[in-house]
Amino acid sequence: MKTKLISSGDEEGLKLAASLLKSGKLVAFPTETVYGLGANGFDSEAVAHVYCAKGRALSNPLSLLLADVSQIEKVVTDVSDKAKKLIKAFSPGPITFVLKRKNIVPNIVTNGKDTVGVRIPDHEIARKIIRLADIPIAAPSANTSGRPSPTSAVAVFDDLQGKISAVVDGGDCAVGIDSTIIDCTQEVLTVLRPGVITLEMLRQVVGAGSVQMKEDIIEENHYAPSAPMFILEGAPNKIEDEMKNYIRKAVDEKKRLGIIASDELIAGISNDVLTYSYGNRGDMKAIAGNLYRALRFFDDHKVDVIYAEGIDKMGIGLAIMNRMYKASGYRIITL
Ligand code: AMP
Ligand code: MG
Repeated sequence: MKTKLISSGDEEGLKLAASLLKSGKLVAFPTETVYGLGANGFDSEAVAHVYCAKGRALSNPLSLLLADVSQIEKVVTDVSDKAKKLIKAFSPGPITFVLKRKNIVPNIVTNGKDTVGVRIPDHEIARKIIRLADIPIAAPSANTSGRPSPTSAVAVFDDLQGKISAVVDGGDCAVGIDSTIIDCTQEVLTVLRPGVITLEMLRQVVGAGSVQMKEDIIEENHYAPSAPMFILEGAPNKIEDEMKNYIRKAVDEKKRLGIIASDELIAGISNDVLTYSYGNRGDMKAIAGNLYRALRFFDDHKVDVIYAEGIDKMGIGLAIMNRMYKASGYRIITL
């Protein structure tokens, strides 16, 4: 199959993307978080192809992307007042709400669960395609399972070229990490995956006692670059010193090293090593936007090992470190 590239400015192309989706084909498109791999959420066969194209375990359920808040009640039921408040406060946006599904949602979308994740992306192109298709779109991230999520059309092509019908190119994703996921099916709501809508932001809307954070589950092979990756945590000067040690050792051992770190740290180390800056220290938005790009950069450059500067787990920092830990397989060096 030849994968068609559609520009987001091409009106006819967007109509084609929507009709491909409606007819059961797979189309990747941009959202504000990461690129999604879309399929008709009412078409079991199309949804099955999503699992195949990504190499995703059938046991890992998909979420549905919707064009507007008003469509939520078409696919879910029993939306509590707290859930309604959060939907009102944060949708459209980078947050997925897990709610009780209606039977109209096929089993294969949710792996037979009686709940389904729903999200309204804050992205004009995404919503336009979904609106034109006029169906809920089952859409996980448009990467091969286990790899870093894609934040550009090129990254989608790298993983899925030849396996899907089309990619809509809408440039780089503004947020750059996957949505917050919140389970709204119990009295106390639970954040299943942290994101840029933080626990603090959710608690401000429904009260501190109403939202809890799920303990992190250690999963292998998530967001992982090809090379082994280590996270360095501690005071910035200690991390910098340790990075310099690794650089010296790598030169001795003739290993290709990749370093993911802040501008400040990179300014202090040798130019001879391959580095990728995720932005200024403390600029959480920049770091979220650059993280997956950095991981894919080092895949392209085929390094032997990656060392990354860890950040404070405050606010969005928690979501960033959640992805970094998973990408590194929890290889954490505390200094
Ligand atoms: P992705 O679309 O690749 O960002 O992955 C979606 C994430 O949402 C996965 O981690 C799923 O396990 C999670 N998810 C989707 N639907 C549900 C659900 N009904 N209950 C709990 N988690 C879900
Ligand atoms: Mg994913």
